[in-house]
Amino acid sequence: MEIATAPSVVDLEKQYLLQNYARYPVVLHRGKGCYVYDTAGKRYLDLLAGIGVNALGHAHPRITKVIREQAGRLIHSSNLYYHEYTGPLAERISLASQLPRIFFCNSGTEANEAALKMAKAHGRKISPEKFEIVSLENSFHGRTIGALSVTGQESYRRDFEPLVPGVRFVPRNDLAALEQAVGDRTAGIILELVQGEGGIYPLTAAFVRKARELADRYDAILIFDEIQCGVGRTGKFFAYEWIGVQPDIMCVAKGIGGGFPLGACLATAEAAKGMTVGTHGSTYGGNPLGMAVGNAAIDLVLSPGFLEHVQAIGNYLRQQLAGLIAEHPSVFEELRGQGLMLGLKMRVPNTEFVAGARQHGLLIVGAGENVVRLLPPLIVDEEQVREAIALLSAAATDFETEKKTVAA
Ligand code: PLP
Repeated sequence: MEIATAPSVVDLEKQYLLQNYARYPVVLHRGKGCYVYDTAGKRYLDLLAGIGVNALGHAHPRITKVIREQAGRLIHSSNLYYHEYTGPLAERISLASQLPRIFFCNSGTEANEAALKMAKAHGRKISPEKFEIVSLENSFHGRTIGALSVTGQESYRRDFEPLVPGVRFVPRNDLAALEQAVGDRTAGIILELVQGEGGIYPLTAAFVRKARELADRYDAILIFDEIQCGVGRTGKFFAYEWIGVQPDIMCVAKGIGGGFPLGACLATAEAAKGMTVGTHGSTYGGNPLGMAVGNAAIDLVLSPGFLEHVQAIGNYLRQQLAGLIAEHPSVFEELRGQGLMLGLKMRVPNTEFVAGARQHGLLIVGAGENVVRLLPPLIVDEEQVREAIALLSAAATDFETEKKTVAA
């Protein structure tokens, strides 16, 4: 529903909310599978999935059932007690990742905070001088002060400087710059294997291998931030599986909860050594509701054929998008990404294109450097891909027609 027809909801937010979001003029009401519906009943094909969160689509019957049942049983119990769901979920994530120590939280940025603390605790055991973190330019790791301090984008950092000291940024895929930045003072190296917010830029295998080699050489912790690219999004359960380089710590969130707020920081036993009783915690982290949902979500993502589907449908989408780019070369420049984490570099302003696509009933989201991101639910099918291509094509045609009008 557009603003004019929903004044109360929008006006209330304008009056009472921190004005930190630029919301689109749509009031969403419900979702089913790969579609969402606004309060006026308009249907949208959802190719952004709550920014990569709704990996299993909306209102997945299994997720909905688990939430209903668990909500009626025990939502929260605190980390003072055990409950039935954390252990089994930790075991499954650990077996899938080969990382045996897990901390559960509620969001991506919290997972990264835990990772940074672990890296610093590890460094401190060796020397008080070993506290530096090496990160990448154009990276995004979250909005809390620690995660923001390792986020390599000026626009997010500017208003909050000075941030946590001792962070060095290097350009992605620049092996020489990485080699120069990492040294005895390095406690950790943090990498998004595919930069998401920055504009869908995958790291090269050579760069990731070099990071592993340097981390080993200088006894630093290698952290993979798989908050956006993990949990099946690239067609493997974790994106690092494509490269075959094992991290010391990995952060996941978004898809791991199938839409429910859930994050996790996974570590080797060695990397986790510094985190003893009382060094870290979260009131809500690992709550019974979140853990029950996490078990169901991981069941589904690891069910036979699921990841094969992501790979196949990702290839189909790529192939269809290549055709779209060829048909509209004045609107699209190139396609990047892997699996169902794709970015279209635009020749027209991405924000305007996102708005145009929405008018046609397609939800997508922008990213850095004038990119439009496609992060569909992992259950998207071929028919929905074809529908998406038709909607993207219609939005592109609007731009071409407008340009023609202007030129005439
Ligand atoms: N790291 C990456 C790679 C992300 O894409 C995001 C969110 O987009 C975050 C961290 C922060 O996650 P959250 O917004 O759940 O705190």
